Amino acid sequence: MAIKLIRLSNILKNVGKNFNIIKVGLTNCYLLKSDSCNILIDTGYKGKAKIILDYLETNGINAKSIKLIILTHGHYDHIGNAIELKKVTGAKILIHKNELPLLRSGVTDSQSTKPLNIWGKILLSKISSIDTTFEEIKPDIIIESEFDLNSYGIKGRIISTPGHSKGSISIILDSGDAFIGDLGMNGLPLRIGPGEPIFGEDISEIYKSWDKLVKNKAKSVYPSHGESFDIEVIKKILSTKGLS
Ligand SMILES: [Zn+2]
Ligand SMILES: [Zn+2]
Repeated sequence: MAIKLIRLSNILKNVGKNFNIIKVGLTNCYLLKSDSCNILIDTGYKGKAKIILDYLETNGINAKSIKLIILTHGHYDHIGNAIELKKVTGAKILIHKNELPLLRSGVTDSQSTKPLNIWGKILLSKISSIDTTFEEIKPDIIIESEFDLNSYGIKGRIISTPGHSKGSISIILDSGDAFIGDLGMNGLPLRIGPGEPIFGEDISEIYKSWDKLVKNKAKSVYPSHGESFDIEVIKKILSTKGLS
């Protein structure tokens, strides 16, 4: 019952927002909506494109209205359906330059990421046993720093937020809604509450990127795994660590 109420309150929290959450297993994908087109953030695990396409159909959204697919980073649980969705939608695929090595087929998550705590170590050993292969991706737009989304009718921008991976990016809307990929995580089975990702390249880079979110006026944080949380969570952890 309590969980249902939390879910309901999270759904209500997003009413009136100019984006939708599409849950693809444990990965949240987000659909940013403008008058002219739509943008999809992340694509979930391989073989799950149908979940996204069904979602679009159920909600009366033309798949061809998606003009851009932003990959927050190159891990298999975010890029798995990028090729298939590109074929259906005709959208361009955008990713940061530093993720290009991860887009080669055959790279596994356990090769591309490190555990940042003991639970991450245990989960990573489980992931190693599942099929994380994907079709090689050749992105259309490769960014190195910022990217303005105004040309897609979205008031917001992409900023570089490394730490979870070298080329992780975040999308910050002018409204303060921030889509951060795996720069933070929330909820089981990854964490009990919101906070640091349990996998990553460099925890000190993660904290620097968190500070960047704060400086770029993020208010509500939408991670790829787990429910959204307030930027105050991040501010509090940074201040506890003497980093703000
Ligand atoms: Zn990741
Ligand atoms: Zn992930």
